[in-house]
Amino acid sequence: MKHRIVVLGAGYAGAYTAGYLARQLHCDDFEITVVNAEPDFVERLRLHQLAAGHELPHRPLAEVFAGTDIRLRVAKVTGVDADARTVTVTDNAGVDRLEYDTLLYTLGSTAADHDVPGVAEHAFHVAARPAALRLRARLDELGETGRVLVIGGNLTAIEAATEIAEAHPALRVGLATSGELGGWLGPKARRHLLRAFDRFGITVHEHTRIERVTAAGASAADGTVFAADATVWAAGFAVHPIAAASGLAVEPNGQITVDRQMRSVSHPNVYAAGDSVFVLGENGHPLPMSCASAGFTGTQAAATIIGDLTGRGIKASALPYVGNHISLGRKDGIFQLVDEDARAKPGALRGRSAARVKSAIVATSAWAISRPTFGKPNHRYRSAGSRADSRETATA
Ligand SMILES: Cc1cc2nc3c(=O)[nH]c(=O)nc-3n(C[C@H](O)[C@H](O)[C@H](O)COP(=O)(O)OP(=O)(O)OC[C@H]3O[C@@H](n4cnc5c(N)ncnc54)[C@H](O)[C@@H]3O)c2cc1C
Repeated sequence: MKHRIVVLGAGYAGAYTAGYLARQLHCDDFEITVVNAEPDFVERLRLHQLAAGHELPHRPLAEVFAGTDIRLRVAKVTGVDADARTVTVTDNAGVDRLEYDTLLYTLGSTAADHDVPGVAEHAFHVAARPAALRLRARLDELGETGRVLVIGGNLTAIEAATEIAEAHPALRVGLATSGELGGWLGPKARRHLLRAFDRFGITVHEHTRIERVTAAGASAADGTVFAADATVWAAGFAVHPIAAASGLAVEPNGQITVDRQMRSVSHPNVYAAGDSVFVLGENGHPLPMSCASAGFTGTQAAATIIGDLTGRGIKASALPYVGNHISLGRKDGIFQLVDEDARAKPGALRGRSAARVKSAIVATSAWAISRPTFGKPNHRYRSAGSRADSRETATA
């Protein structure tokens, strides 16, 4: 019987890692199944653009994995039982249970609501494609007179607010954040950011903690009420509760606890990568949820899985955090590098050249994920079990 590898999630970490595994592991010994809720690879980095009205390229996973021997299962994962080694999925045909020998958990994250009342019922977000499409439809409905309130002061809030303001110049866009808008940026980058918000006519409410969202807007801790026709919740990401309910060891925030090689510390046949995993980077700080972290942790997870299953040495991949690339609409941006302690460096690339760098990074990531086997070594390693068997056969 083949060794069953099941990969949950085909986003930046999962699609890349599954392709890599398919390229390196022999299909006579290993069977790789990828489960994803959507039939397409979704460019999450561009969902604020989708919400603002831009079109994203269609990237069917069936094409992404064509010729790889990967079995694609389009279904929603509803549960994992790490002790029984099973995954429960639902699709149009109903509920099904998949058994695995090795699991790679890369289900990513969603918008964090921080338990603020009304967010789930009334707020929009851009952390997943269906949600971004709902916001897009709402913005289209608003026509020329609407008020949009974005909650959050970090990367996604900044990108969402500027993209919406640029694509819908007639809408009145505001942003409320509990801290300072882009307060972590270096001085030059922050000045550039505030100038861009000014140019787009986005009203900024700093030091404003939103405590409730309603159908008519949001209210802050100090009693201020913000009227809005669309409230966009962009106050960080949270992982899906599936890992915490699975019996796997998780951190207080639900991210899977792994060793340096991305193996679950409680169930060594389970590996995790991307937003779902908690791991310290080279700088000693937890790796941020980002596309780059998904790439680094995915590369390490692939190397570890191959090593564990074939008996080969496991190479340590670097886990760096170098900075943030932030789009401010389609023609402006900031590329902020950070130092070895994750603090912003004083200078930053700004303006149109930063926007070009950002577009190039986004396009290159999508290109690489859409061709997950491109340029990868085609070793087709046999399993440690089958190599041991063949040695036994040879010496018998
Ligand atoms: C609007 C926006 C802009 C961003 N911009 C940047 C940026 O500029 N730079 C950057 O580094 N990061 C950015 N990020 C963060 C980045 O997108 C994530 O860190 C990255 O996608 C994490 O990769 P992942 O593979 O862990 O998760 P994902 O890419 O989210 O992949 C998870 C996959 O799992 C699937 N899935 C989820 N739940 C289930 C389920 N129950 N059943 C089946 N399938 C499921 C999803 O459909 C998806 O395909 C941005 C995020 C957003 C939302």
